[in-house]
Amino acid sequence: MKILVLGSGAREHAIIKALLSEEAGHHIIAAPGNAGIAGDVTVVGIDQENPSIVRDFARDEAVDLVVIGPEAPLVAGVADKLRAAGIPVFGPNRSAAALEGSKSFAKRIMDEAGVPTGRAVRAEDLDAAIAALDDFGAPYVVKADGLAAGKGVLVTHDRDAAIQHATNWLGYGGVLVEEFLDGQEVSLFFITDGETVLPLSPAQDYKRLLDGDAGPNTGGMGAYSPLPWLDNRFGSETAFVDEVLETVAIPVVRQLASEGNPFQGLLYAGLILTERGIRVIEFNARFGDPETQVVLPRLVTPLSALLLGSATGTLGEQPRPAFAEASAVTVVLASQNYPETPVTGRSITGLDAAVAVEGVHLVHAATADVDGGLVATGGRVLNVVALGSTFPEARGRAYEALSRIELEGGQYRTDIAARVS
Ligand code: AMP
Repeated sequence: MKILVLGSGAREHAIIKALLSEEAGHHIIAAPGNAGIAGDVTVVGIDQENPSIVRDFARDEAVDLVVIGPEAPLVAGVADKLRAAGIPVFGPNRSAAALEGSKSFAKRIMDEAGVPTGRAVRAEDLDAAIAALDDFGAPYVVKADGLAAGKGVLVTHDRDAAIQHATNWLGYGGVLVEEFLDGQEVSLFFITDGETVLPLSPAQDYKRLLDGDAGPNTGGMGAYSPLPWLDNRFGSETAFVDEVLETVAIPVVRQLASEGNPFQGLLYAGLILTERGIRVIEFNARFGDPETQVVLPRLVTPLSALLLGSATGTLGEQPRPAFAEASAVTVVLASQNYPETPVTGRSITGLDAAVAVEGVHLVHAATADVDGGLVATGGRVLNVVALGSTFPEARGRAYEALSRIELEGGQYRTDIAARVS
């Protein structure tokens, strides 16, 4: 197949690596990609957020499938344009991607579909926000009601900070004040064509910058998959996944379809396992980063068949995806001063030595080739991904590889998957 992958992050690099691992001879083009992606496939410099440009390119190149990695092209309507032109595309139309982009839209869909989620109040002015904060009590959860690049959510015991956050985001529209949900967080991905819904294997990510879940929220500093501790609570991973499939994913997909707004692509359910049961904290309309880096290397079923099945409405012909038993760990290497003001332009060395560690591969996020050397171009620079037969083995491999990489001021968490046995 000739496949165009839109995006430039570690998620897209992980998707491309999974497609290449099929050894099916796919011809893959990435736009715009990064230095790591350019090492694996052809990259082109087209504007991934311009629907007409992407459509024309896909048509001229006779691409069989377009895979949209990040949310920005979805919000820009790239999937709509491709679908209208009859080009198979993995990724929802803009109106269905609102499940990610609008928290209040997601809440309405969940309410209509009877999906368990935290109670929330949408506030349009400060008085309403404060009333809701005091009603729910501490800890306070305040969310911007729109795409906020991971910066829109504040969870705090500090009432003044909650009010300040609400004030800041009210200027950009409404905010949601939500009840605090206590429990383990799980990310679970579903591939859907708007009718059939196929689950992938769960993962857990680490959102805070520092060890012990201290420091500010980030785009994600590491992840692991599968989650062996699910067995204690649900009996097995399959039992857990089936519960989320039945109570969350299928009802949401059916609800959207019934509104004439079918969702074709990746439905990402961000869940909290509370004592009172599973609750949805958010949906995303695309693969999660960094969870994708640990889920896809374990996928045994060819990814291309699942993505094409979603794009062409033929997912019903596909088997439920199968996963290897292996333990997968990914650790993100970030630039100095990430997430506030990451220092960019510094050189990265030692990658050959890192991948010489057994079971390790690298997935690039913000890298570029400058004068034949690799430099960091953003906050999250690259991911070390390690597979092993146990978590201690995978973890040991990941950190051994990281110790061989040099990036001045580079930072990473040292406790990814540390408590998983
Ligand atoms: P979101 O962008 O909605 O995923 O929120 C980012 C992070 O904030 C989540 O991963 C959780 O750690 C936390 N969070 C969001 N909503 C809640 C909630 N209702 N209760 C507790 N923590 C939450």
